[in-house]
Amino acid sequence: MRVSRLLLVTLREDPAEAEIPSHRLLVRAGYIRRVASGIYAYLPLMWRVLRKVSAIVREEMDGTGALETLLPQLQPAELWERSGRWAGYTAGEGIMFHLVDRQDRSLGLGPTHEEVVTALAADLLRSYRQLPATLYQIQTKFRDEIRPRFGLMRSREFIMKDAYSFHANPADLAATYNEMEAAYRRIFKRCGLQTLAVEADSGAIGGSASKEFMVTADAGEDLVLTSGDGLYAANQERAESLAPEAQPLEADLAELATPGQASIEALCAAHGFHPSQTLKVLLLLARFAGGRAQPLLVCLRGDQQLNEVKLTNTLSSLQGEAWGSLLTLEPLDAGQLGDPKGLPLGYLGPDLDDAVLAGSPGLEPKFLRLADHTAAALGRFVCGANQPDRHRVGLEWGAGPLACPQAHDLRAAQAGDRCCHDPSQELRATRGIEVGHIFQLGRKYSEALSARFTNEQGQEEALWMGCYGIGVSRLAQAAVEQHHDGAGIVWPVAIAPFELVLVIASAQEPLQVELAERLYGELRAAGVDVLLDDRAERAGVKFKDAELLGIPWRLVVGRGAATGVVELVERASGEKQEGPVGPLVSHLLERLQLQRLGGL
Ligand code: ATP
Ligand code: MG
Repeated sequence: MRVSRLLLVTLREDPAEAEIPSHRLLVRAGYIRRVASGIYAYLPLMWRVLRKVSAIVREEMDGTGALETLLPQLQPAELWERSGRWAGYTAGEGIMFHLVDRQDRSLGLGPTHEEVVTALAADLLRSYRQLPATLYQIQTKFRDEIRPRFGLMRSREFIMKDAYSFHANPADLAATYNEMEAAYRRIFKRCGLQTLAVEADSGAIGGSASKEFMVTADAGEDLVLTSGDGLYAANQERAESLAPEAQPLEADLAELATPGQASIEALCAAHGFHPSQTLKVLLLLARFAGGRAQPLLVCLRGDQQLNEVKLTNTLSSLQGEAWGSLLTLEPLDAGQLGDPKGLPLGYLGPDLDDAVLAGSPGLEPKFLRLADHTAAALGRFVCGANQPDRHRVGLEWGAGPLACPQAHDLRAAQAGDRCCHDPSQELRATRGIEVGHIFQLGRKYSEALSARFTNEQGQEEALWMGCYGIGVSRLAQAAVEQHHDGAGIVWPVAIAPFELVLVIASAQEPLQVELAERLYGELRAAGVDVLLDDRAERAGVKFKDAELLGIPWRLVVGRGAATGVVELVERASGEKQEGPVGPLVSHLLERLQLQRLGGL
């Protein structure tokens, strides 16, 4: 490819919409253009990168014996109703784009494909002899993200590799899950990415075991907690830890005037309490697909934070399917109550009477009361007195209204907490970009969609399933986030749009043009992905563009052309070598051979 034919438009200024380096660089270097919020055009350079990433993914998936397929993006609502996910994915904060066709049938644009693939499996897989079987595809997915941002990192249309496996038993599922994990590690390594596999929440997809693969980068949206000994790594959404010990409170029961001390911080500052001696009472409202609007009263130890994912999971395990899926979880504000004055926010105690909910339109009349284990374990504590400007000191859990609610793990693990597997280890926080996610789904979808097979004993049972995703377009941008410098992108060779840019320093010099054209042909014949910068620009402009674009190697044909002397520059190290063409090209070919396998 010649730069003169590449439709290359690079920008000198940072695009206003881009907040993180990889987004800025991909726009500036002419890889992507924004079409609408969360919707991007992949320009030819980007498409080359995406094809290279896809090729690596494809090779490794094929290597596991998975079969490539292509499933429809338009999916009938009926399938999602059978799995119970239609309402959760379309109402409230649901992320599925959906529409009604001319026959009045509802359809969704695929955010993921469990339903479609399970319905296919129900049709195709009948006997244990066909198992295990794995299907995968590389395809555009659609998600109406609440906050699309960071370019391809969180977009509304993106490329995903998704794979689905079917098994006769859980042991076989676990074996494929482990093979997929190994294939994922190879994929990310080959793409030149440093990743961390972490325990993850299974989210709305459902299922038991699940791991995410995180590209470590400051711009990551996920918080990952790891132990210093390397034995534990989990997404904060899922992480467990030992909370610091609470400081004991000696005070006898008393009421305290606490005007203007509606926060734990203000309360502790005014009276010298430690936050772990206090009880924080949160009021939330959970809306369910079945229409139920359930007020929640959640007790946490004052020094702890709520983990909304754990609360969401607790709610679904408590109610099963009775209320439908959880649509939203939001703070309950006084305006939603029949008598807004009954709610002394900032001064609540765990014994807040259900009467405050009386006459509130649409709300259940009673709180669902929950406590985190650390709150339940408190001896004496400080908490609100359920009247403005008053707290109680020395209160204890007791009987009646002061009975401790059912305790669950609801707190967010934090950096500095002790680890469960070894209390001498502390959790550390790192930011990560989720590029892949693998799940053991179990039988949730096969049961809902009646995907059954006949086992060795001749009995029918539901299939065991796993699913495995990689965000191909997110991965490509994450590679830039991990590999860039002040001058531009530094692509790992295996996924670079071109391996080498051959620069003609002066396109007016026939000798230079001649040598460059000859090398262009020879290098391509040798299997090198070469970009020839044949523009009539100054050499300096071409060098700058080459650095911005992040092409791993640059071969410059300049004044030395007459004597066959050229310059070879490595983008990552900045190392320059000048010398006769022959040995330099041999050196280049040797280095490329190693780098294509994933070495940097
Ligand atoms: P996230 O938590 O970031 O929203 P997710 O857990 O919902 O992602 P999965 O359903 O696990 O995503 O999808 C598989 C992979 O697809 C993710 O690991 C991620 O790499 C990619 N992905 C998900 N959402 C997006 C998006 N909006 N834009 C780009 N890639 C995405
Ligand atoms: Mg995920």
